Amino acid sequence: MTAAVPILMYHEVSARLDPRYRKYTLTPQELERQLDWLGAHAYRTVTMDDVLAAWRGTRPLPPNPVAITFDDGGRDCIEHAVPALAKRGFTATFYIVAGIVGGPMRWLKQEIGFELQAADWPALWAAEKMGMRCEAHSITHPRLGQVDAATCRDELARGRAMLEDGLGHAVTHLAYPFGSFSDETCAIARETGYATACTTVESIASATDDELLALPRVPILGTESFGEFTHRVRTAQRASALQLKLEHVAERLGFGRRPQS
Ligand SMILES: [Zn+2]
Repeated sequence: MTAAVPILMYHEVSARLDPRYRKYTLTPQELERQLDWLGAHAYRTVTMDDVLAAWRGTRPLPPNPVAITFDDGGRDCIEHAVPALAKRGFTATFYIVAGIVGGPMRWLKQEIGFELQAADWPALWAAEKMGMRCEAHSITHPRLGQVDAATCRDELARGRAMLEDGLGHAVTHLAYPFGSFSDETCAIARETGYATACTTVESIASATDDELLALPRVPILGTESFGEFTHRVRTAQRASALQLKLEHVAERLGFGRRPQS
């Protein structure tokens, strides 16, 4: 048993699609189809606390575990994803940018020329009441691997404190904005009280990943097909055209390959 867990990385879920952000946006219908597929293939959703406990040997993971994560805490994302998850008895982790709760995602303006709105505190509280977990994604969404150590420490330590104040519970899990991190970032994350941190490295996480402050994830992209999604969940990698064809046939014949657990 390798206790492998695909940690799925989503961003926005919205009916308002902008071509500049389509790669990181799923429509609510696309998300629901993916969640239905996970349910039909007997995947069980777990929190980052569950993953950590299993890897520390405290309690085992369920069969076919999957950790669903959403970065940035977008207003539309929370509005659409939370009920879709809750309806299926799923949990998910939302990585929240502490300094922009209820406000615009300013970093997007610099990157792609427009802004999305972040969910406000009442929306985050409601999400947690429905079984979701909110964790940390810095204060201002900088590239932590490129800022000086004092800035990094402030983003991580004060960002964590702001979220703990707002949410009323301990916050010990982190995702690095833009997936930007260095050895020093990991060390600072550890020092400032984080137990795990997710990157954008594309792989299935497992207990053999001894670096809990640099966990790989499985990107789920609005620009990839449904077949590419199912291939990603199983392998973390982008599918080739031949793999997609073979898997499509297998799925239609009812031989959808079961995930390793
Ligand atoms: Zn982000």
